[in-house]
Amino acid sequence: MQLYNSLTRKKDNFVPRVEGKVSMYTCGPTVYHFAHIGNLRSYIMEDILEKYLRYVGYDVTRVMNITDVGHLTSDADTGEDKMLKGARRERKTVMEIAKFYTDAFFADCKKLNIKTPDFVEPATNCISEFIDMINTLLEKGYAYKAGGNIYFDTSKLDKYYVFNDFTEEDLDVGVRDTVEADENKKNKADFVLWFTKSKFDDQELKWDSPFGIGYPGWHIECSCIAKKHLGEYLDIHCGGIDNAFPHHTNEIAQSESTFGHEWCKHWFHVHHLNLASGKMSKSKGEFLTVSLLEERGFDPLVYRMFCLGSHYRKNLVFSWENLENAKTAYNKLVSRIASLKPAEADEVDEAAMEKGRAAFRSALDNDLNTSLAVTALYDVLKLDTNDKTKQALIGELDTVLGLDLLDRAAKLFEGADEDEATDVSAELLAYIKERINARAEAKRARNFGEADAIRAELLEKGITLVDKREGTEFIINK
Ligand code: AMP
Ligand code: ZN
Repeated sequence: MQLYNSLTRKKDNFVPRVEGKVSMYTCGPTVYHFAHIGNLRSYIMEDILEKYLRYVGYDVTRVMNITDVGHLTSDADTGEDKMLKGARRERKTVMEIAKFYTDAFFADCKKLNIKTPDFVEPATNCISEFIDMINTLLEKGYAYKAGGNIYFDTSKLDKYYVFNDFTEEDLDVGVRDTVEADENKKNKADFVLWFTKSKFDDQELKWDSPFGIGYPGWHIECSCIAKKHLGEYLDIHCGGIDNAFPHHTNEIAQSESTFGHEWCKHWFHVHHLNLASGKMSKSKGEFLTVSLLEERGFDPLVYRMFCLGSHYRKNLVFSWENLENAKTAYNKLVSRIASLKPAEADEVDEAAMEKGRAAFRSALDNDLNTSLAVTALYDVLKLDTNDKTKQALIGELDTVLGLDLLDRAAKLFEGADEDEATDVSAELLAYIKERINARAEAKRARNFGEADAIRAELLEKGITLVDKREGTEFIINK
């Protein structure tokens, strides 16, 4: 598989260290608020990557942290702990909001068919691991104590800016005048490993440590949690593009200085979901959630379909209109699948299965091109083969895409015995309309056999078509 690697800045052949096995790490959410649909774009694309690696036969172990301490309101070391700010906003304890928003995050993931990683580890579970790594970094001379805090000394590295060609001067870009520089740092790029002194004395969670009572910096948690579950080597590390610097850059600095060797070969970064007005941001408090999409009548899987339609290395602009288009496409796909009529006696046609798989794999093997993979799935419907094969292949490919297609198609007719057409689900309505249009088209093409077959297909499902001057209407039979 060819996959873009932020470290080499090109598409690389993805080859894990140990044949057949993949160790995968994902930066998890900071649980001070609901995840917004931008965060979830990253998790959807990472989920597709994981499922595809499994699909092609790798034994994947995936780890995710939950950031419940140490992530300050700026990704550098200024500002206050986001968790503390969240707790204050809600007049709750940090641990209460951590639990609440962690559960909310996984509830959203479930609705979006995002698999829970094999290991999920809250940062507050791993304080002793953080202390161990910081001790090693101090012993090896990569860290220093200043003003009560422990800092990583970036001048000790041959190369610190691994993902870009930044220099120290670039760090001034975007820094507001109101943000005071931390006088304790020897170099501008240095970052905190352990805080005992910060401007914010009311930090709720603190732990005893050899460096004094305090709390960990944000970056150390991912290095340690990855080591705890995956050892000293990772095959692939994922996150949103904003995490590349400084977060991932700092993770690499810590891990490689501790281990004394290269840590992770392949870095996968998902670009942002933006609003037409700019970046969607959790800290601004104005963002779209899965619940809001549901309130507006969108199935969460329609959002998944929307994300699949564009490449993970391109920014994606969200608009209700674009989501509406994804809904139409999704409903159409489900209804086309619902009209498959696999016969008991049909045999699965292996040659056709292979043909469909090949198109799907060639899309995803080319830097995870999900939109072409969806096209490959549509093309299954056009394959010259029986419906049993098509259904089997769609089910197989959907183990990666996660759109619940067969399930939704089977459920389309549930509740179809309601006598009021208005009680019909939106999906069923879309299906019926699609079939009515297909029939009208067949008639226009004077393909009356096909038109009759569509009428019979609907009748079999309890739907009678009535042709009127104004157009075709339908009745749902009791
Ligand atoms: P956070 O909860 O802020 O730590 O972010 C969780 C994940 O979402 C990280 O991998 C971020 O890089 C990613 N992320 C943040 N904002 C966006 C966005 N607008 N679009 C896509 N991913 C994002
Ligand atoms: Zn991380």
